[in-house]
Amino acid sequence: MTNNIYFIANWKMYGNIESIKTIKNVISLSKKRSLKNVKIIYCPPYTLLSEFVKKTKKSSISVGAQNCHQHSSFGSFTGSINSLMVKNIGCEYIILGHSENRKIGDTDKVINTKIRSALKANLKIIFCIGETLKEKKNKQTKKILKNQIIKGLKGIKNINNIIISYEPVWSIGTGLIPKIDDLKKKIIFIKKVVNNYFQPKKTKILYGGSVNPKNVKSLKQIKQINGFLVGGASQNDKKFIDIIQKSIN
Ligand code: PEP
Repeated sequence: MTNNIYFIANWKMYGNIESIKTIKNVISLSKKRSLKNVKIIYCPPYTLLSEFVKKTKKSSISVGAQNCHQHSSFGSFTGSINSLMVKNIGCEYIILGHSENRKIGDTDKVINTKIRSALKANLKIIFCIGETLKEKKNKQTKKILKNQIIKGLKGIKNINNIIISYEPVWSIGTGLIPKIDDLKKKIIFIKKVVNNYFQPKKTKILYGGSVNPKNVKSLKQIKQINGFLVGGASQNDKKFIDIIQKSIN
């Protein structure tokens, strides 16, 4: 993967067919010369993936799914989608390990199986890790992050197609972000763990959690961060554009 600054739009369980119109301005922005090192990835709900792929075809914007089933081929799993189906529809990326899915049953082992299956399907992974508020209060953050990395990536030899997104669970959707100094230390820690255990060519680490046009200027001071995973604010094209522009200027 190149030296891009990443902006991932995680639309979660929001958006209908009409909402796609709102990405028009982001597509225009992505064509500007000043954005040549910027990689924008839209992760809408499954129902909109194919429309997003069509709509972004003539741009540098990529599309990703927000999750998949751990089973890597067709099977009797009602209501589920596997990584091959995600790839087949034209997606390049997939978010795995998001805390909202960890909360409803995605263990480190399940996430590891999903990552392996997605890599086999030639998808690039946005692998989310992060501690809960309770774990933070109990000073367990480093232990939790290390565990999630080691277990989630267990046995994977080539992690060059994996981007890590550090998302403190207490920061997602709350308007709270970590103190800049603390966040920098955590990003450096994550890089160290990944480099020690997996020797990637280059580790890409994003930050996610209540990123908005107001706080992005302070977040971008952390040079070790390779971009942002944006939830709520990415569903509003003006806010998303503002975040991108403020990050690169
Ligand atoms: C997310 O969905 O991972 C996220 C970071 O959400 P938000 O930006 O709304 O906190």
